[in-house]
Parts: sequence; structure tokens; C-alpha cells
Amino acid sequence: MEDCLFCKIVDGTIPSAKVYEDEDVLAFKDINPQAPVHVLIIPKRHISGADKLKRSDDKLLGKLVAVANQLAKELGISETGYRLISNIGDDAGQSVHHLHIHLIGGKVLNWDN
Ligand code: AMP
Ligand code: ZN
Repeated sequence: MEDCLFCKIVDGTIPSAKVYEDEDVLAFKDINPQAPVHVLIIPKRHISGADKLKRSDDKLLGKLVAVANQLAKELGISETGYRLISNIGDDAGQSVHHLHIHLIGGKVLNWDN
């Protein structure tokens, strides 16, 4: 989608520090990390947020979570624990309107983060 930051990262117009890619999913390091590990896992197809997922996207969502779990293992935080977050809308602080799951870990996380 035009004027979508993460679509531009998918098409390579904007560079990113990629940590995973397949035909459906891209994962890259957050530019403003909130913890030692902070990766964003996104679908390559534009979906504006988790609230816009359809039942036909169930498999895609499962894949996003599976990739997040795999990356948690590869990045060494699967034993110590981590958080998967998807912000939806203004009160949650969603700033990029292309579905993304934050994978955050590598330190003890406070709930008011
Ligand atoms: P949210 O506020 O939940 O919509 O998350 C958006 C995230 O995208 C924030 O954590 C930003 O730091 C991150 N971000 C914004 N621009 C970039 C970029 N060019 N590359 C990587 N991460 C980005
Ligand atoms: Zn997009």
C-alpha cells in the first residue's frame, strides 16, 4: 500500500535490519528498541492492524506467532521469557498501521512498559 512505512520496508524502498523472511512474513529489528531484543514480525501483505484480520487469515496469524517463537529461540530468550504484543488503535499507541507483532525480551519486563 502506498504511503505505508512497513509496505516500503517489505518492497525494499526503506532499509531494515532483517532477521527473517519467507514468502508471507518479514521480521526486522525495531529502530527504537525497548529491550535488548525487540523485533517486529509483519505479514508482507498490507493489513492495517490485528483488528482487521479475517477468519481466512487464521493461518497467517498462526505463522506470525510461530515465526516469533522461532526467533525467540534463535535470539536466546525462549527460556528466560518474552512478550508478544500487537497494539491496536490510538489508546494502545499504534503508530504504524500495518499489522506487526512486537517480540520483546532479554530483560525483566514491567507491565507498564
Ligand atoms: P506501534 O507503535 O505498536 O505501531 O509500533 C511501531 C514500531 O515501529 C515502533 O516500535 C517503532 O520504533 C518501529 N519503527 C518505526 N519505524 C521503523 C523503521 N523504519 N524500522 C524499524 N522499526 C520502525
Ligand atoms: Zn502496509
